Amino acid sequence: MSDNPGTAALARMLAEAKRVVVFTGAGISTESGIPDFRSPGGIWTQMAPIYFDEFLASEEARRETWRRRFVMEDTFKAAEPNRGHRAVDALVRRGKIAAVITQNIDGLHQASGIPPEKVIELHGNTTYATCLDCGQRYEIADLRAIFEKTGAVPPCSECLGHVKTATVSFGQSMPVLAMQRAEQETRAADLFIVLGSSLVVYPAAGFPQLAGEEALRDHRMDPAHDIDDLRHPEARRDAAERIGIVRRELRTARQKVDRVARGKGHSGVEILVET
Ligand SMILES: [Zn+2]
Repeated sequence: MSDNPGTAALARMLAEAKRVVVFTGAGISTESGIPDFRSPGGIWTQMAPIYFDEFLASEEARRETWRRRFVMEDTFKAAEPNRGHRAVDALVRRGKIAAVITQNIDGLHQASGIPPEKVIELHGNTTYATCLDCGQRYEIADLRAIFEKTGAVPPCSECLGHVKTATVSFGQSMPVLAMQRAEQETRAADLFIVLGSSLVVYPAAGFPQLAGEEALRDHRMDPAHDIDDLRHPEARRDAAERIGIVRRELRTARQKVDRVARGKGHSGVEILVET
């Protein structure tokens, strides 16, 4: 097994855990060529986001939203799962992962082979579009072809509602079912692994705190710590850091998960999850 103390700790925790939740953010997808939109220099620091209300209210805003989306299409279309995604998929196949909660909209966890029902997308999915009123699904390639001819994406052919990527826009409410499932899975988990997330985008970033408190209680990671203390933000942050596989140890998925996944002898992941 690895000499890296963080990796060894992760291995031990995985071996002991019965119900693992993996939480992923933009960092796991950058190696696949998907930019981190919110990082310094990212797209949202270069152009003002279009809020959901504007999208609903203005034809111009809808055109501009779609124009921006189609500019990104070659990037999204070309993106393939990387080592980080594959390592998570390997853990899923070992049967310990109850759910993968992701802030990413690129669909790469599913593309890596993880069954879609195991993936909880907090910010939706940009690889297809839906009608905001009736939910009818539309494919990006079809919409793009129409947009390139006419300069607009037409309304839903079923109900004339607005068609939009299946993502959660700025100012749009979080998907209720996904949030509920994510919360349930997080509370039920005895190990919560954070990969490639700086944990700054709320409400999604609240989950590690949730897990921290529960997992501490279950695992007695720090028996000296009074649970009541964990209700204070400072202590919660502390807990989230310890339980969330300490993001300092696993700052990016691609570096360290890869180390875990390689291991020695057989696949590292298999070694890790043997109990
Ligand atoms: Zn419709």
